[in-house]
Formats: sequence, structure tokens, C-alpha cells
Amino acid sequence: MAMRIGRTLPPAAAPLHFKDILSGVAGLFGGTETVRRFEEELKGYYGVRHCFVVSSGKAALVLVLQALNELLPERDEVLIPAYTCYSVPSAIVRAGLKVRLCDMASDSLDFDFGRLEKQLENPRILCVMPTHLFGLPADVGRVRNLINHRGIFVVEDAAQAMGGDRDGKRLGTLGDVGVFSLGRGKAFSTVEGGIILTDDDSIGRAIQNRLGTISEYGPLDCLKLMLYAIALSVLIHPLIYWLPKSLPFLRLGETHFEPSFPVRRLSSFQAGMAKGWESRIEEFKRIRLNNAKEIAAYGVVLPGLSNASIPNLIRFPVLTKDAGAKSRILKKSERMGLGISDGYPGSINGIEELEILFGRKGFPAANDIAERLISLPMHTSVSKSDIRNIVQLLRNQS
Ligand SMILES: *Cc1c(COP(=O)(O)O)cnc(C)c1O
Repeated sequence: MAMRIGRTLPPAAAPLHFKDILSGVAGLFGGTETVRRFEEELKGYYGVRHCFVVSSGKAALVLVLQALNELLPERDEVLIPAYTCYSVPSAIVRAGLKVRLCDMASDSLDFDFGRLEKQLENPRILCVMPTHLFGLPADVGRVRNLINHRGIFVVEDAAQAMGGDRDGKRLGTLGDVGVFSLGRGKAFSTVEGGIILTDDDSIGRAIQNRLGTISEYGPLDCLKLMLYAIALSVLIHPLIYWLPKSLPFLRLGETHFEPSFPVRRLSSFQAGMAKGWESRIEEFKRIRLNNAKEIAAYGVVLPGLSNASIPNLIRFPVLTKDAGAKSRILKKSERMGLGISDGYPGSINGIEELEILFGRKGFPAANDIAERLISLPMHTSVSKSDIRNIVQLLRNQS
């Protein structure tokens, strides 16, 4: 791949300032009280009775799935969209449960609801995971209606969607339990981290019981996080990002299926770094929405956005004409440093380690999405002239 030296937009980035790292250090001194305060703030803002903060979105999913399986031990299958982040099947496998896929609708990036309805008849299904891909609000209400007293849980994968809402309700609170990611490249970041929200006391208690058994970040882990945060705060700057991007061992932007990862409680350093999260997310959202409007004004359409949604889009998904157009656009963007990126490398049934589960069964819409989807950067470093260049490139190459 040709290496570019010079201004290069990262595909996604929640700004991280030195001031936030200092808040993290102050958080360390507060100890568990810092973590408790962060959880209380989240509970208040989201109006839920239970909130738990952990080491990643994946870790949050593992705890949620294990807790749900404890409540309904005869059910062990988790139904997810066939095109989503590879961390999701990783978490399901890590939780000791089975991955089930539902195909999607290309025009909405949401479930194919006709198929979903049929699959819900399977008595082994423990939960369904509507997913707000790229922050685009999925129709969780429709999933709830389809479930209709079957006793299947709704786990809202809001990993990419913290700060958005739909029909006047906050994303993350639309299911029986909701999960956010605080990973880098998400809507709001503490380098790594995850949040669980639920208003259901039995789910809350089951998760609380599991929390007693998981590990904590040690002092060395916190030091590593701190160094990483300092590096990140510098390297995500567009004038510097070409450098880490050109170092293959950093494997920036790659997606892997990897079921062995730590499940820990969030550290007080991370909880400290989240200080002022409410107003910071509002600010990021305002800027991302403006960028999205600017792009939409050029006639680029956002798939399946309902009128009643205010998304906090971390990337702007676009379906190109075909795989050829996609690859041309990505190559050109690479040369120009425009930060347009691929989605996930393929649909979940294509993951080598999972293929045996799905055999040759196809998920044509998810496949089609994987083949054609690109995503445009939406973050705070994207300028008006970047947007003009991005739109120009899309027009020339489509
Ligand atoms: C990132 C992501 C996750 C996992 O979050 P991590 O904090 O990276 O573990 C889960 N689901 C979706 C849709 C994601 O984008």
C-alpha cells in the first residue's frame, strides 16, 4: 500500500485532550468513589436503576449474556444482525453461548424483520440484539413488538451510539438491557471501557452477582492505559495520524474475531477521564450532526434514518454501487488522506472460526452490505473542505 505523508483524517475519533488525562489521574486518587460517581451520573441521566461500568463493550456484553443465561438457563442462543462488529460474536462465544444470525435490509442496515419474526420462533433464543450500526438508530420497538411475550430478552447494542436518541427516547434504554462502548473510535472514549444499563431488577441483580467475581485493573494496567491515552491524544491529530497509520504493527482499524479478552471493572483512571461526559458528548454530537447535514446537503443519502431520530453518528455509512466502486473510492481516499473507511471485513458467517456454525447458509443482504459499504468520517477534525473533497470523490468514482 502506498504510504501517505501529510494531513490524514482518522476514520473515527472522539477527541481526547491532555486535560482529560489529568482528570483521569485525579480520578485515580478518588479510587472506587470515582467509579461509583460515574455510575450514579449515568443512572441519573438515563433514568435507570442499574448501571455497571467495565473494561470494554465486549466485556459488558459477556456479563449481560451470562446474567441473562442464568435467568433463562434453557435458552443459549443469541440472535444478532449478520453484519456487525466482530466483537459481538467474540463476546457471545466468550460467554459460552451460541451465535445465531439474522439477515438484514440493505436500505436500513437494520434487521430484515420478516426473517427476524420467523427466527424468533426458535425456543433456544435467549436474546436478540438490535444494533445501532455507526450510531444509526435501529428500530428496537419493532423488535419488542415481534417478541410479544415470548420471553426473549432484548439486548440493545448501542456500542457505537452513546448520545443518540430515537422517538424522543435515549438510545441504550430501549431494550431490557443496553450496552455502550467507550473504546477508541466510538462516540465517546476513555481509551477502552464499556457501560451496561438496565431498569430490570432481576437482570441488575444477576449482573451485580457476577461483578464480584471479575478482576480489576492493577497499577501497571492503569499506567499502560495512561501512556496509551497520552499517545492517542497526540496521534489522532490529522497532521500526525499518517504516522501511526503507516506502522503496520499497530494494526489500526483492523477487526478481529478474538474470544479471549479481559473482563474487568472500569478503573478509576478511566472513570476520571470521563469527567464532564454529558456536555462533551453533546458537543461531539452537535459537530457530527453538522457534518452529517453538510454531507446530506450534497445529496448523499443516509440509509434508513427515521424522522424521529437524532443520531450521534460516529461514521456516515454509504452504500456504493458495487464492490469495484468501493475499492476505487477507498484507494483514492487513502491517497488523499480523507479518512473514508471500509466497514467490517465481511458478514459474520464468513468468519473462519464460525463458518462451521453456518455451513453454506447465506445471508445475502448482509453480504451485499459488506461488499458495498464504506463509511465517511464524522468527527470533530473533519473540515468543510474535507467534506467537499469527500463528496467530489464519491461523485467521480461512483
Ligand atoms: C465496538 C463495538 C462493540 C464492542 O465494544 P468494545 O469496547 O470495542 O469491546 C460491540 N458492538 C458494536 C456494534 C461495536 O461497534
